[in-house]
Amino acid sequence: MSATRQYVGRFAPSPTGPLHFGSLVAALASWLDARHHGGRWLVRIEDVDTTRCRAEWTDTILNQLKALHLDWDGEVLIQSQRTIRYEEALSRLKNACTCSRREIADSATAGIDGPVYPGTCRLKQAQQEDAAIRVRVPAGEIAFLDGIQGKVSQDLARDIGDFVLKRRDGLIAYQLAVVVDDADQGVTHVVRGADLLDSTPRQIYLQHLLGFPACEYSHVPVAVNSAEQKLSKQTLAAAINPAEGADLLNQALTFLGQPAQPTTDPADLLTRAAAAWQPARIPRTRLNPAPAAWSD
Ligand code: GLU
Ligand code: ZN
Repeated sequence: MSATRQYVGRFAPSPTGPLHFGSLVAALASWLDARHHGGRWLVRIEDVDTTRCRAEWTDTILNQLKALHLDWDGEVLIQSQRTIRYEEALSRLKNACTCSRREIADSATAGIDGPVYPGTCRLKQAQQEDAAIRVRVPAGEIAFLDGIQGKVSQDLARDIGDFVLKRRDGLIAYQLAVVVDDADQGVTHVVRGADLLDSTPRQIYLQHLLGFPACEYSHVPVAVNSAEQKLSKQTLAAAINPAEGADLLNQALTFLGQPAQPTTDPADLLTRAAAAWQPARIPRTRLNPAPAAWSD
């Protein structure tokens, strides 16, 4: 991060249900990292997939965060209200290649009149009007240094393929919405669950195409139950009860390898935990067992 950019972190839940222990861990880790660095912490509701999201869950999630004193800065951004911004980004990708001549030359093959434009920036849409819009991906590794998981690299062409930016049903895909929002909100540090590690190279690639600054990424382990499944709505994970306040936050701190704080007041606990925050103590794994009470 350049010295002139102030730390901006965010928590970006999808309102498909109330927060459970796994989503609390992601919220807490990003809150602590932001506050430890004297940064701002934003909340964004990721409800682009209107088939899975419900407004009542948005209210529940915001109330759960408030009750735990995980206070955010500024307005909550709601993705379903930002379709125009996403369409704008799509049309920019349609019309412009943001690669420098050098980058094109580096990834191009030699042609008679010079390098052949490799077409990395072009969108791809099948003939039918109702087909999904995909972005073409280049061959070669996209690598980044994750703050917790270390070096991560992925070859988009080999591992993912040309990926969807706008679905057949007209909905904007998560990958595009996240990249546009992180840039518009000035997010510098993304701290989230390791289930999104494999999405990060796609997001870095889109940032490059759109000329957005890159973020720093840290992926915390995902909480799994005794069957090694991610806690989620599908695995019937229990909702957190914010009335459990400091006890609940201490369980999440312990999960993140941080010392528990000897206080019963959630706000006090958070202040102490932010001061004591040591990302180096977070387990460097993608999966980590949830405490017993959450894991059946
Ligand atoms: N909305 C995503 C989720 O709930 C998180 C996206 C992100 O943090 O980038 O899994
Ligand atoms: Zn390009």
